[in-house]
Amino acid sequence: MSKLFPQQPEDPQRLALVGGAAILPDRVVQDAYVEWAAGRLTRIGAIPKRISKDVQVIDATGSYISPGWVDIHVHGGGGADFMDGDVKAIETACKTHLRHGTTTLFPTTTTGSHESIIRMIKSVDATIRSGDATIRSGDATIRSGDASLPTIQGVHLYGPYFTPEKSGCHRKEGCRAPVRSEFEAYFKAGPIGIATCAAELDGCSDFYRYAKKRGCLVTCGHSNSSWNEMANAHRCGMSHVDHFWCAMSSVASVRTRLGTPMQGSMLEFVLAHETMSTEVIADGYHLSPELLQFAWQMKKPSMLCLVSDTSRALDMPAGKYAFGHPQEDVWIESNGKVGLSPTGGLASSIVALDHCVRHMASVTKIPLFDIVRMASLTPAQRTGIDGQCGSLEVGKRADVLVLDKKLRVQKVYYCPGQRAS
Ligand SMILES: [Zn+2]
Ligand SMILES: [Zn+2]
Repeated sequence: MSKLFPQQPEDPQRLALVGGAAILPDRVVQDAYVEWAAGRLTRIGAIPKRISKDVQVIDATGSYISPGWVDIHVHGGGGADFMDGDVKAIETACKTHLRHGTTTLFPTTTTGSHESIIRMIKSVDATIRSGDATIRSGDATIRSGDASLPTIQGVHLYGPYFTPEKSGCHRKEGCRAPVRSEFEAYFKAGPIGIATCAAELDGCSDFYRYAKKRGCLVTCGHSNSSWNEMANAHRCGMSHVDHFWCAMSSVASVRTRLGTPMQGSMLEFVLAHETMSTEVIADGYHLSPELLQFAWQMKKPSMLCLVSDTSRALDMPAGKYAFGHPQEDVWIESNGKVGLSPTGGLASSIVALDHCVRHMASVTKIPLFDIVRMASLTPAQRTGIDGQCGSLEVGKRADVLVLDKKLRVQKVYYCPGQRAS
């Protein structure tokens, strides 16, 4: 386990991984050279003829060199749910994902009570600020203290603005329509990077515009909305749909809600619009291989993200776990492979993004650089942080993974960054 644990490249000395296969957004470079100094990537390409003496060389022969994963939809891990609402739980979940190669993530809310969502956002804020306190002077992107956490880029305000008929494993009673005074309080409590709302709810247009104005990736999820409702949402700034095919509308479900003539649903709207992105839970239990391949074919790697949607059951034994806050949310069962709700439906994954990358590589014919891109650069681009992370590119944070030939994480080098507020 110790070699899996992250190392921080904060030493001003230059480090370089030499000889591995570097996974870039559009190709894999064999016999590569990936160098960084003071937490920033400084050189990527073929091995230079002469390597300066002040570079500490790490042999990566036989390995892949990959950018760290960016997870935009994640509830917890290592026994902790972000909704537990304290710094310790946030650190536990973050550290667990970091060991799996996730170097940037967005803690994700449920349909909990107003108070527990506020508590969650405040504790994420406090966690980020505790890192702020140890920023090394002169370099605002590197912590010199306890730098054991990935970069928290802001909260994914996911619940509570879901429609009850598509609540999935979330507590139905917690689903509600957005009201300005409530969501304004969320945005005041801490940094929100992603904001979800079902497109058929009263007040959704106001929510979308508000979140868009504040720089969020604005998304629609847990929704039974029609094409027309999606079109309205899109005009208000919504441009992403959460976990494609899961807890979302289809022509049939919209017909049940709105009758005939049959209307387009979220599915058709996303496939018809190049400006709409989406995400898949590629854990092997939510979606079949042909659906994963189809999503990539339709949306291209630039508009499809891999997400873990992990519950707290990641790296925990099979058993019963609270989804969300133990006193407020619901219980799910992990069978050691996937989460199940009491009614037998799927309830989040229990794996991290490394598993999703391996699964995509083993069951689809998608090129490896596209798969990695969907777990790193694409989510970074969709959330507007690709100037900082998401790919092996000079100037970006040195969030670098060493993977073995079977794509298992061997080493995590990372540089915790601060959220651009
Ligand atoms: Zn969901
Ligand atoms: Zn989720």
